[in-house]
Amino acid sequence: MTLAAMSLDLPVPKLSIKSLTLEDLAAHFAAQGDPAYRAKQVADWLYQKRVDSFAAMTDLPAATRSRLAEEFSFVGPEIVRVLGSEDTTRKFLFRLGDGSLIESVLIPASPALYGQTSDRRTACVSTQVGCAYGCKFCASGLDGFSRNLDASEIVSQLLAIEAASGEEIDNIVFMGMGEPLANLTNLLRAIRIINAPWGLEIGARHITISTSGLAPQIRKLASEPTQFRLAISLHGATDEVRSRIMPVNRKHNLTTLLGACDEYVAQKKRLMFEYILIAGVNDSDEQAHQLAQHALRLSAKTNLIPYNTVEGLEWSRPSRNRQESFLQILRDHGAVATLRREKGHDINAACGQLRLQTKRAENPVAAEQ
Ligand code: SF4
Repeated sequence: MTLAAMSLDLPVPKLSIKSLTLEDLAAHFAAQGDPAYRAKQVADWLYQKRVDSFAAMTDLPAATRSRLAEEFSFVGPEIVRVLGSEDTTRKFLFRLGDGSLIESVLIPASPALYGQTSDRRTACVSTQVGCAYGCKFCASGLDGFSRNLDASEIVSQLLAIEAASGEEIDNIVFMGMGEPLANLTNLLRAIRIINAPWGLEIGARHITISTSGLAPQIRKLASEPTQFRLAISLHGATDEVRSRIMPVNRKHNLTTLLGACDEYVAQKKRLMFEYILIAGVNDSDEQAHQLAQHALRLSAKTNLIPYNTVEGLEWSRPSRNRQESFLQILRDHGAVATLRREKGHDINAACGQLRLQTKRAENPVAAEQ
């Protein structure tokens, strides 16, 4: 028997109900000859009342509940570990239905974090299991890429964090594990659910997508009607420096990336730069002058982030003086910039570290492969 024929015998995994938009639910019920209001009832159970089974949707007929349970799955992520305490950054390690591990972070209210003003509880969410892009400062890149998350696995991170913490999330950054724009279809579907009045109702301006610089997808985002925020992980102001830190720059170099950003900004959308300051690598005066030019060209605010030590990587953060001098050069050019003290430094909040440690502890041989 061929592999293809053998695979025909495998059960097809059920689609998760939390991957569906209200329109999808409406189409589903219409196809079954059910009343149109069923779609809104199900959305209410999922995102307002937050039940964890079809059986709990008590205003649906029993036959409808059984049919939904046969057709769709309802599994949420299992929390494996939580690090941090109530008033500090908390990191959640989740196990998905197929055993994969992903991380999310809940960051308490903090002035100027990701450009937001105070009293916001920010969730930093993953979009892939592992990552293929191999940025040299990032633990997610140390372990390769496994798969994309589906929309429900993206949305469910938020539901699980809110349930476990009792906190209401009002700001989301897609800066967890994975390159969000490499999973654009599922990301946009998840954002539709997160943003919708029938869903999690989080305003588009409180949703930030971070990218390592996938120029073609940035162009696609330019034509998206929703006004979410876009953060470009720049980390180098010339091709020579950026390629050392971010291998993606060899595919989409700065000319291509900044050209895509021009198109994005031309649609009256704003973007910002993230720039991790690494001692002796990208923190020179020349880099600061070049970075200021890029930022002014795109009217982009720049967030400077002192490097966060990653186990197994050699780099270090510049001295406080160097950080301040770099910031001052940007400001002298008239560029808007902030210097952030990295939150979560003590609990390995940098992308991918908790997952890597847990994977190595659970399965030391496989994790090294
Ligand atoms: S920074 Fe983002 S894109 Fe780069 S390796 Fe880490 S997860 Fe991937």
